[in-house]
Amino acid sequence: MHLDYPMKKNGMYIIKKREFDDIGENLLKEYMPDVLEYPKAVDIMNLATECLYLDVKDMYITQDGSILGMIAFDDTEFTGYGIGLDEETLKLSAGTVLIDYSLWGNSNIGRRRYTLAHECSHWICHRPYHSPDKRTFEFRKNEAGSLIACRSENIEGVRSASAYSNYDDSDWEEWQADSLAAAILMPRKTFARAFADAMYEEGVRLRYLIKGDDIITERRVIHRLTEIFEVSHKAAQIRLKTLGLLRECSYDGRYDMIVWR
Ligand SMILES: [Zn+2]
Repeated sequence: MHLDYPMKKNGMYIIKKREFDDIGENLLKEYMPDVLEYPKAVDIMNLATECLYLDVKDMYITQDGSILGMIAFDDTEFTGYGIGLDEETLKLSAGTVLIDYSLWGNSNIGRRRYTLAHECSHWICHRPYHSPDKRTFEFRKNEAGSLIACRSENIEGVRSASAYSNYDDSDWEEWQADSLAAAILMPRKTFARAFADAMYEEGVRLRYLIKGDDIITERRVIHRLTEIFEVSHKAAQIRLKTLGLLRECSYDGRYDMIVWR
């Protein structure tokens, strides 16, 4: 998949937040258009392995679970830990994804799916930045290495507006991967439609929710979305905020009632 966005000299794309929705939609349109027709979960393993040709492996990446996912941009080796926490060295070919064993189990399905979507997003957005083949970016190979290790706090991450001013390329990489992961797993139009349906079924006649105003309804609506899209509560909550469907307060200080109330 080719991205037609401006790029810095070092191979890093410059992409605006809203543009990730377009990238995600184009990707899904190409590989699994049915998920853009009505709200449903994206088969992210199929997207990773059958569409992007990534090889997905599991191991304990660290002993403390601080890194949830990794992706190799070049053939390399990595030493992590097996099921018994014995050291284990894997040979990784370019396009191999490692997912941490700690994400196995039913309670982590959403976070595991998001981590895999995050690694797919690195593959889509960051190959030019890490490419060992393009001489233009040769220096990146030494500086950034051929592996990206994704820390727990950067997956389904919440970022304060003030943090952006201190971002370096590695922070932007994580932000980009997380933004695209959300757009892939929760496509804007079907997610907004599912939200509107959930609000209707909960008997709420508002266009958006005010965070903390009615916690029970907020939880129930978000729960419906987590079941449809197979994402975590946190991922769905962040997506709602990004799309303006869960707000800190209404713009004018009053509730924005829709016309039929
Ligand atoms: Zn990452």
